[in-house]
Amino acid sequence: MIPAKFDYARPSSVEEAVQALADGGDDPKVIAGGQSFIPVLRLRLAAPSTIVDIGAIDELKQVTEDGDKIKIGAMVTHSEVLENELVAQHVKLLQEITETVADRQVRHRGTLCGALAHADPAGDLGSAAVALEAEFEIAGSEGRRTVPASEFFEDYLTTAIGEGEVLVSVSFPKVGDWKVHYEKFNRMAQAWATVGVAVALKVDGDTISDARVGLTNMGSTPLRATGVEAELTGKPATEETFKAAAEKADEGTSPTDDLSAKADYRRHLAKVLTRRALQKAISAGESDHGNK
Ligand SMILES: Cc1cc2nc3c(=O)[nH]c(=O)nc-3n(C[C@H](O)[C@H](O)[C@H](O)COP(=O)(O)OP(=O)(O)OC[C@H]3O[C@@H](n4cnc5c(N)ncnc54)[C@H](O)[C@@H]3O)c2cc1C
Repeated sequence: MIPAKFDYARPSSVEEAVQALADGGDDPKVIAGGQSFIPVLRLRLAAPSTIVDIGAIDELKQVTEDGDKIKIGAMVTHSEVLENELVAQHVKLLQEITETVADRQVRHRGTLCGALAHADPAGDLGSAAVALEAEFEIAGSEGRRTVPASEFFEDYLTTAIGEGEVLVSVSFPKVGDWKVHYEKFNRMAQAWATVGVAVALKVDGDTISDARVGLTNMGSTPLRATGVEAELTGKPATEETFKAAAEKADEGTSPTDDLSAKADYRRHLAKVLTRRALQKAISAGESDHGNK
């Protein structure tokens, strides 16, 4: 189907983008890589008055070191995340997850921030954002504000980005010395997650001093498995600990029934995948993924 008629703006700064949204009629929308948005337009599930294309804004194409954080601009594609040295060194979990996202063509155009802004609960990257407590920089007519991941994902396909606002960047803490792994279950290669589990463990000696676990597709937003985290923290990194902790993986979740899986099966998967993710994170040095 052909999209409904719209006006088009291609600003060269974030401030111009905010202005273009303000001037853009009753339902202006941002486009980044277009991988989720163009199908929505073609199906006429959205009929924006103006499309504000942020692809010419240089500020949004950068990955930078910002103190103890790595800041990733809104036009940085999945492919660029995979190739970036700062991300490899400090937020390897993001690369592990991104490797499982779609295919090369989609990764070449689609952006990390676009995926997070779209907020599909089956999207893989939100699990890293909630687990690692990422921060979102959002620009609007009042200036810029920072929103923590715990407040960014509000509901199904709904985030804290308000009308007339642009997501500028997402920042992740440097966790280069943590043990990480993403375990994804899908029905075929390159498909969306039935369930996914992102794990990041800080291990001092044999003891887990900090544990972060993010869940994909276990509710209407990405979730923290806080029961698992509590069960792991302060414990030795052993199989026994992982087994007991993984049993808590579905606590506080609300998975749906759909064509991929029933809710009960998703609950089962969350436990199995959590245990596997913990095992693989700890044995990471012995696997192909050297820097975990
Ligand atoms: C075939 C296919 C397979 C896929 N498989 C997976 C998968 O396995 N796992 C997974 O996680 N994802 C998957 N995806 C989703 C993919 O990750 C997203 O489509 C893509 O990353 C979205 O980024 P984009 O830059 O293309 O966003 P766009 O499509 O341009 O935008 C998406 C939405 O976010 C909004 N938006 C984008 N950027 C901003 C911004 N800076 N500020 C405000 N709003 C913004 C847009 O208005 C729109 O509503 C798949 C997509 C396709 C097409």
